Amino acid sequence: MERIECAFCDAMGLDPFKIPSPLSKCQVCWGRGTVSVSVREKTIKCVYCNGSGAHPELRLTCPVCWGKGVVAVENQTMRCPECGGSGKAPESKLPCLRCDGKGVIARSD
Ligand SMILES: [Zn+2]
Ligand SMILES: [Zn+2]
Ligand SMILES: [Zn+2]
Repeated sequence: MERIECAFCDAMGLDPFKIPSPLSKCQVCWGRGTVSVSVREKTIKCVYCNGSGAHPELRLTCPVCWGKGVVAVENQTMRCPECGGSGKAPESKLPCLRCDGKGVIARSD
C-alpha cells in the first residue's frame, strides 16, 4: 500500500465544500489528507472525475429548500436563490463513485 494526496480535498483534510460545517473532515480521507492506493505505479487518473475525486454530477440536496427548488417567503413561493430551482446544492460535490474520491483508479492491465 502507498499513500497519495487526497484528490477530493486537495490534501487539506477538510471537506472542500464545508459540508456540513467548515470544520468537517474530508469524507474521503477522514481528515488525513492522504489516501491509500495499492501501488502508485499501478494507478491511472480516474477519467470519470478527471482526477478531481469529485463526482461530475452528484450533488447534495439543497440545504435551503431541501430539494424542492422553491422557498416560501411571506406566503408566496419563490425560486430558491441558493440552488436556482434545481433543488441541488451547487457547491456540494460528492466523491466520485468510480475512484471513491481518490482521483485515481487501479490500472487494469
Ligand atoms: Zn480528503
Ligand atoms: Zn473518479
Ligand atoms: Zn434550493
